Amino acid sequence: MGIDQHGRTIDYLRISVTDRCNLRCLYCMPEEGVAWKPHDAMLSLEEILHFVEIAAGEGFSRIRLTGGEPLVRLGIVDLVRNIAQTPGIERVAMTTNAILLPDFADSLREAGLDRVNISLDTLDPKQFTHITRWGRIEDVFAGIEAALRVGFDPVKINSVVVRSLHQDLLAFAKLSLDRPLHVRFIEYMPVGASCGGDGLGWTADDTIPNEELIELLNQQAEAEGLGKLLPLNDRRPEGWGPARYYEFAGAQGTVGFISALSRHFCGECNRLRMTAEGQLRPCLFSDDEYDVRAALRSGDDAAVRAALHVALGAKPDEHHNRVGTDRLMSQIGG
Ligand code: SAM
Ligand code: SF4
Repeated sequence: MGIDQHGRTIDYLRISVTDRCNLRCLYCMPEEGVAWKPHDAMLSLEEILHFVEIAAGEGFSRIRLTGGEPLVRLGIVDLVRNIAQTPGIERVAMTTNAILLPDFADSLREAGLDRVNISLDTLDPKQFTHITRWGRIEDVFAGIEAALRVGFDPVKINSVVVRSLHQDLLAFAKLSLDRPLHVRFIEYMPVGASCGGDGLGWTADDTIPNEELIELLNQQAEAEGLGKLLPLNDRRPEGWGPARYYEFAGAQGTVGFISALSRHFCGECNRLRMTAEGQLRPCLFSDDEYDVRAALRSGDDAAVRAALHVALGAKPDEHHNRVGTDRLMSQIGG
């Protein structure tokens, strides 16, 4: 089991399988996309799998595939299948914008994918196209239906809240009422703080602290006769990560809040990230990276293990609210 120098158990690996995407969310990626890199700068699927095998031997048991958009990476279903069959791996999850999920849901489920987090920041079709620069919200709705149909469990809907976007947050929370959907509001984070010419950029004002958001939602919910959100407290579902969970009385799903800034959860941090280029990243908010690609390519498993342990040892105690990173979220693997 990987224990870092601050006594935290690190058993969760988030792997970015590509830095490319079929959308261009204003806060995540410039309109022109990410800079072109030679194909062999990216880890091959075989290299990613071999890294997972070694990491599993070092106590990593949970894998999340992310990006960029993981479903645009060719061979993604086979990668899921191979990871799911790796001894020691207990759970494989994916974070996706769901645009391609209707095409992939059945084969991903059959390959052994357990759960999905779907990113969606608004229920308003026009605003969705504005935020993603060209996405069609119907595609995401179809992706959510496909996720429920094939039985991913849980299906979480992640929504980044940005004050200046004026999203309809109660409409979002109400998605949890009639279906087993778990809506999570994510504080807008100063990662890759500038996203090119017409991007949003990050300002402190644009991050709505979760406490304020809960208050706001409760006021709106009470005005609609829904009653306040009820904290789940110790009923927080096992393995559901750093969110604080609530529910509306009688709802099928839950409403969670992820406060990386206003109430950071560094003390519970259990993860290590790997970029699509094979850089291990101990902390989302720090540009410190440890190369593992060279070791993977030289076939030196001991060197891969050594890089893994160096990266674990470099995990900071907390992120100290650092603003801005050199890499964009889409390049780190959010
Ligand atoms: N393309 C996939 C998707 O959108 O789900 C996976 C990668 S995306 C980078 C992962 C998550 O990071 C998305 O939910 C996105 O909203 C979130 N994200 C990107 N930039 C962010 C920021 N500055 N603050 C908070 N969340 C951010
Ligand atoms: Fe693509 Fe996801 Fe970033 Fe949006 S948040 S641009 S969908 S990687």
